[in-house]
Amino acid sequence: MNSSLRDEYLEAMGIRQWLLRDKGRPDNDAAASASQSGDDSPWLALQDLVSGCTRCALHATRTQTVFGTGNRSADWLVIGEAPGADEDRQGEPFVGRAGQLLTEMRRAAGLERDAVYITNILKCRPPNNRDPQPDEVASCHDYLERQIELIEPRLILAVGRIAAHNLLQTDTPVGRLRGRVHHYGASGIPLVVTYHPAYLLRSPLEKRKSWDDLQLAMQVINR
Ligand code: SF4
Repeated sequence: MNSSLRDEYLEAMGIRQWLLRDKGRPDNDAAASASQSGDDSPWLALQDLVSGCTRCALHATRTQTVFGTGNRSADWLVIGEAPGADEDRQGEPFVGRAGQLLTEMRRAAGLERDAVYITNILKCRPPNNRDPQPDEVASCHDYLERQIELIEPRLILAVGRIAAHNLLQTDTPVGRLRGRVHHYGASGIPLVVTYHPAYLLRSPLEKRKSWDDLQLAMQVINR
């Protein structure tokens, strides 16, 4: 990526000017939802299973499950932590301020919505946005695993501590997991770790590092 793209990205991470300039830029967001292809039945079966799931206690407090969104044949699979209050209400991952920032990161990096599928480690909201418990993650793991099987992404972007720790089975701090390419599970899918947008909203000085993370991910995809 060239320096003007980087500048654009950094502006997008905190400066309104980028948004003004971006107003007329086509993003194909609207077209993305129409880009699904192939046999829907495994997805529908999985979605049915998840929406009726009572495997862990979180089913009792959720408004609805939050399955995932995006292109089911995407090269990039973005995996976050768990639904928050907005996601629980709307049924989609990464809505609200953190979701807006993730969208801006994606656009500024030149990625169309079509290139990405987004989901979480957990499909139901933990009360009061507490961290997911190990038994909840274990109960929900099969669903994520099946999503990964169906999507066959070329890259997983683990967004934030909870996603990184659970996908890589480690407790190493995110700051030390960033900057190198990991591999996920038996399938060995390349995995890059970056900060959660909610964290970036609280710690804007770290935003620049997320640009480096996306560049690393781009290098993997372009190999
Ligand atoms: S978090 Fe996962 S395992 Fe727990 S009830 Fe929701 S869908 Fe089921």
